[in-house]
Amino acid sequence: MGFETPLPLSMATRKALEITPHATTSSKRKPLQEALGFVLARDEFSEQESPSFDNSAMDGFAVAAEVFSGSAPWSLPIHGTISAGGTLAEARQPDGGCYRIYTGAPVPEWCTSVVPIENVRCDGSNATFSEFPVYGSHIRRKGENVAIGTRLVAKGTRLEPRHISHLIAHGVSQVSVYQPPKVGIFSTGDELAVSGAMRSASQIADSNRPMLIAYAQSYGAQVDDLGIVPDDPDASIAFFETIKGRYDLVFSSGAVSVGGKDFLKEAVLKAGGRLESWRVAMKPGKPVVFARIGSTVYTGLPGNPLAALVGFEVFVSQQIQVLSGAHSKTGLFMPGTATFDWNRKAGRSEFFPIRLAGFDSEGRVKLDRIEPSNSASLHAISQADGLGMVPADVGKIAPGTSIVWKPFPSASAPLSELIS
Ligand code: AMP
Ligand code: MG
Repeated sequence: MGFETPLPLSMATRKALEITPHATTSSKRKPLQEALGFVLARDEFSEQESPSFDNSAMDGFAVAAEVFSGSAPWSLPIHGTISAGGTLAEARQPDGGCYRIYTGAPVPEWCTSVVPIENVRCDGSNATFSEFPVYGSHIRRKGENVAIGTRLVAKGTRLEPRHISHLIAHGVSQVSVYQPPKVGIFSTGDELAVSGAMRSASQIADSNRPMLIAYAQSYGAQVDDLGIVPDDPDASIAFFETIKGRYDLVFSSGAVSVGGKDFLKEAVLKAGGRLESWRVAMKPGKPVVFARIGSTVYTGLPGNPLAALVGFEVFVSQQIQVLSGAHSKTGLFMPGTATFDWNRKAGRSEFFPIRLAGFDSEGRVKLDRIEPSNSASLHAISQADGLGMVPADVGKIAPGTSIVWKPFPSASAPLSELIS
């Protein structure tokens, strides 16, 4: 079948993305409240300036500079209160006095400063100031944050809660988002039992499929569960014929290696697909198939659960991002410092479970490697804070060596253990 030499990781990542079309799916309008996790199909611009009126940045006193004649301290009568959401009708020219004002309340035109409550001595009807107020202090000026027409959130952004808030604050109530990609996921293996079903002593639970479905959904894909495909050449070919062109992306776990029961590579070809590559110089998870079948991208991950997880993180998550029209920035690995000695065989990029071990004297995150890391089990990775990675050509890691890692969204180490 050719392609005997495993592809270096960087080339494999490129290949995975090369065969994946950018979002071609149509967009639709959605109310912002329903748009969380969708990808913006066009830039969104501000329809309102912010702030939309001059307002106070502090709880304090609204004062006019001209009232402060003579020398400190100045004791001024309090004429009233201006509250957030209130009107200025009452806040007439201060007439030698001042107004109590709260954060977010409109600032009257005559007001030259807001003096924070902490800097004022107050005896109920009078406020005493010991310093001349700084002109313009603690007043948020109309339009100083965002002007009308400013780009608020760029096309290609997967909307998070912070974007939703920012858009709503500027008068945007509906957005154009891409339709999420259609993704099908299947497992392979006669040893797999459907979860909940009785199983014989030699069967195992199909634990990859629910994980991969959940991961794909967490990246916004519209997922179909395509079940378990038996270890059978004809069934595999028939399966690929049925999914061909029906999905943007199909991916699977198992049956992509070189064992006698690994039929998927042949089946893709026999169903009319094109095999792009099928081995990557990485550990775990060397056998990874990249293929196109009709208009569908197919990625075959290995069956070992850790290898399937790593394959998803490294390749499939990026493919979903591209198909979704999202900026492809989710795969970022960040630098950290190893706490451990490790002599490994160079030649393949290696992924392994990482636990946070605090910070070094320069503030860099310290990373422990959790051992043993066994690709057939998720036990170690389930206790981990992230996924570490060593490039193919590095054979020796010593304490202090800089390595990269990608945090999991919910780190398992309590913060109190990290800051000591
Ligand atoms: P394979 O890549 O098909 O050779 O499978 C490698 C290992 O992963 C075997 O021990 C399989 O039993 C296991 N495996 C394959 N698919 C799954 C799955 N869906 N869930 C859990 N383990 C699996
Ligand atoms: Mg198998």
